[in-house]
Amino acid sequence: MPRILLVEDEEKLARFVELELKHEGYEVEKAFDGRTGLEMAEAGGFDLMLLDIMLPGINGLEVLRRIRKASSLPVIMLTARDAVMDKVTGLDMGADDYITKPFSIEELLARIRVALRKGTARAEENASFSCADLCLDPARHRVTRGGQEIELTGREFALLQYFLENKTHVLTREQVLSHVWGYQYMGETNVVDVYVRYLRNKIDDPFEQKLLHTVRGVGYVLRDDT
Ligand code: CA
Repeated sequence: MPRILLVEDEEKLARFVELELKHEGYEVEKAFDGRTGLEMAEAGGFDLMLLDIMLPGINGLEVLRRIRKASSLPVIMLTARDAVMDKVTGLDMGADDYITKPFSIEELLARIRVALRKGTARAEENASFSCADLCLDPARHRVTRGGQEIELTGREFALLQYFLENKTHVLTREQVLSHVWGYQYMGETNVVDVYVRYLRNKIDDPFEQKLLHTVRGVGYVLRDDT
């Protein structure tokens, strides 16, 4: 589930929004001042930030300016009513959207969905590894196919990353074993077949185009055949 960082000094409002977002299934972390919010954002692990502008310590616009130096994290600004200048400045500085207080929770949820979609599209553009519409983003530890997020275990993720790093190259079971399990692994090479099957179930089977191919008598290859 997407993780949202909420930076808002009005604690009652923050708690209300937190409850509503959690009810929708989002994970939520809160900060009540700009400096804490900035530190949490810089530590990473969030998919979206809700950022109030009037904050104690560092204000929201300054938090946004500093975050944008290093991150494309989607940010929705929470602005006071009629603060037109703040909205313009926020958007100029790279906010994805803004919402004016007081807002309805439905409106906030709709904007969050849009911003998260934009964020996913942006992450896919920056993804280091892709094959057809399959993307793996090592920094965010995220895999998507056709924009749809796919949950992988740690081992499956490592296996897919190895295939993507060697896209179009046929890999033997022994190569896969030594890279993904480590040389010290003393088991049978058929563990590779088992995990390739797990991986196929998730990245290939639900989709029309197959990417992970068996090369009989040799091993496997990840390839876009179109
Ligand atoms: Ca405030």
